[in-house]
Amino acid sequence: MSKDGEKVPLTPSRRSGSSDPDPAEPIPSVLTDTLDRPLRDLRISVTDRCNFRCTYCMPRQAFGRGFQFLARTEILTFEETTRLARIFVACGVGKVRITGGEPLVRRDLEKLIAMLAGIDGLRDLTLTSHRSLLHRKARALKEAGLGRITVSLDSLDNEVFKTMNDVDFPVKRVLDGIEAAVKAGLAPVKVNMVVKKGLNDHNVVQMARYFRDRGQIVRFIEYMDVGNTNGWRLDEVVPAGDIVRAINAQMPLEPLDPDYRGEVAKRYRYKDGSGEIGVIASVTQPFCGDCTRARLSADGKLYTCLFATKGHDLRSLLRAGSTDEEIAEFLRSVWKARDDRYSDLRSSQTPDLPKIEMSYVGG
Ligand code: SAM
Repeated sequence: MSKDGEKVPLTPSRRSGSSDPDPAEPIPSVLTDTLDRPLRDLRISVTDRCNFRCTYCMPRQAFGRGFQFLARTEILTFEETTRLARIFVACGVGKVRITGGEPLVRRDLEKLIAMLAGIDGLRDLTLTSHRSLLHRKARALKEAGLGRITVSLDSLDNEVFKTMNDVDFPVKRVLDGIEAAVKAGLAPVKVNMVVKKGLNDHNVVQMARYFRDRGQIVRFIEYMDVGNTNGWRLDEVVPAGDIVRAINAQMPLEPLDPDYRGEVAKRYRYKDGSGEIGVIASVTQPFCGDCTRARLSADGKLYTCLFATKGHDLRSLLRAGSTDEEIAEFLRSVWKARDDRYSDLRSSQTPDLPKIEMSYVGG
């Protein structure tokens, strides 16, 4: 029982042998923060490692040979991750996205997917990957219970893409991964493109057209000041409004209503009915007021904002033998105190504030 009398049931409220709800069990209340934002989504980073060195995320100068990644013992086991995910679901989370680093570099990831897919009440289980390993894993992930997948691909131009991933990785192999995912039934596939001025903004319309013709949804992401290593500058951000205008000039668009509160992407559909795109405008049109996301780092810290400086250590609670109820109570107290709204407050002063890296906390 929480201090103000609300109870988080950690198993479905059912009497054994009966399908009727137990009248003695309280109906769980919606857990909201100081800005009345419910806890709905959880992003789980399963590793801080990645085999790309995207210049906007893990620049080689900062994440080179000497970089100290998390040790294996620091990283949550699949059992620990699943236990925490179950507690988050009991506290209101309905959607879990697996991310990283690059989640597919975590060995046997499909075993974790199968464990998470078995959680009662989890409605949507998805994964973000740059797909370099996806062609080998797609079927196993689908069979394990993964619902759908988002792929990162910043350009269809090989030279531009290689400049951005900085490991000489060709576009073709990402496209092969997308095809493998489609064949495996991991649909709808979404494609994330981070747009950076002067680097790949001239590829926006080509990306939109290519994936529209294949029935896939591109989400154009404004380049963000995550972490402190990418040397972010406001004048390198291409505003989502410009992206939409450029596409609309060639393939007319109209806005769509959000599917649900807290949807990250603003959606548009092609007027000829041939599909849709999304734009994620965290810089020019911040959406903190509707942010329902918590993030769990690979070493078990809970973050309540992508731009946070400080996490809340759930791994210590797990490893010290806390009960599910005790961990749920801690989680509830963190969420209730949450007041983060970094993107609303972004200014010329904020990019230099110390922040966690996106490769650590998960995109
Ligand atoms: N490795 C996986 C991948 O590439 O999809 C998952 C992790 S990655 C951090 C998740 C997403 O964050 C990717 O779509 C990536 O392009 C995006 N991202 C990383 N750094 C970013 C930045 N500075 N601004 C905007 N998006 C960024």
